[in-house]
Amino acid sequence: MQQEKVIIIGSGPAGLTAALYTARANLNPLVITGNEIGGQVAITYEVENYPGFPEGISGPEIVERFRKQAERFGARVVQDMVEEVDFTTGSPFTLKTQEKTYLAEAVIITTGASPRRLGVPGEADFVGRGVSYCATCDGFFFRGKDVIVVGGGDSALEEGIFLTRFANSVQIVHRRDELRAGQLLQKRAFSNEKISFIWDTVVDEIAGSNSVENVTLRNVKTGETRPLKIDGVFVFIGHIPNSSLFRDQLEMDQRGYVITDLIKQTNIPGVFAAGEIQDPLYRQVATSVGQGCSAGMSAIRWLEEREALVATGELTR
Ligand code: NAP
Repeated sequence: MQQEKVIIIGSGPAGLTAALYTARANLNPLVITGNEIGGQVAITYEVENYPGFPEGISGPEIVERFRKQAERFGARVVQDMVEEVDFTTGSPFTLKTQEKTYLAEAVIITTGASPRRLGVPGEADFVGRGVSYCATCDGFFFRGKDVIVVGGGDSALEEGIFLTRFANSVQIVHRRDELRAGQLLQKRAFSNEKISFIWDTVVDEIAGSNSVENVTLRNVKTGETRPLKIDGVFVFIGHIPNSSLFRDQLEMDQRGYVITDLIKQTNIPGVFAAGEIQDPLYRQVATSVGQGCSAGMSAIRWLEEREALVATGELTR
């Protein structure tokens, strides 16, 4: 079993910032990345609202910079997946990955959130064959094609605007007649000639043969349904926290967001959480970075206090 001072689960902006701070405190943190390094921002085409980059910066590049900076001070980043945790016995905590079993004196959880699915017939069958949750990843395959974007928030509009680089047309299907997205994005979308809106409408079914060919749309006000011939369906209807691993171990709200206190500590002393796993509200690179910093600093302080108790004999490891 490999024993560590701090293990950080997840490698998005929150995780890599927690790694930077704990590394600079000489704790030599281990970051277990999950499937891919960087989380959601790694598949974002451009980040325009992270301070310090007035011209914007690409998602992959900002992740690379975060990683390099953390590694410079001694953080270790391993690509592996945590499959089981045991927080019930207190520190040191046990974490099992695909490769190894670890003991960690403190844990920082930054596993983020994943795109919410529509849950309609055909959706799961056509993932990667016309159904997508990432315009940056898949937009290129829809050059000259007609696509719909489902959702009315910032993500739907931002990704819809991005898709106009490739697609012939982008129809935004929203379940209400008013967008949730901010004014700036609304203005950009309304003035984009390739974008049109289908209001008060939901997708009931996605169909095709080898790839998506059509969807069934339903007007929620009239109940009327109609088919629409389409090549791609991009879904941006919010996110769900990646917290199933911690079910029965940590306190969560009804939606599955891990509950943290002011210092980003969970209900288990020594287990901290930062970023979208505990934040349904802001979901920004800047806020995740700030929360990762708080969790890192809290873990440092918690370990120092623990060390002091061990030194005076009040606590045995
Ligand atoms: P969101 O703000 O929660 O919007 C989700 C959208 O999907 C809403 O319009 C919602 O409709 C719709 N929706 C939800 N469930 C649905 C369903 N089952 N069927 C059809 N439509 C459904 O999510 P988001 O756009 O991913 O944004 C999340 C957060 O990230 C927000 O705080 C946003 O400001 C932020 N964000 C910011 C930027 C930026 O600053 N550039 C970019 C992306 C995201 P209703 O409106 O009717 O609820």
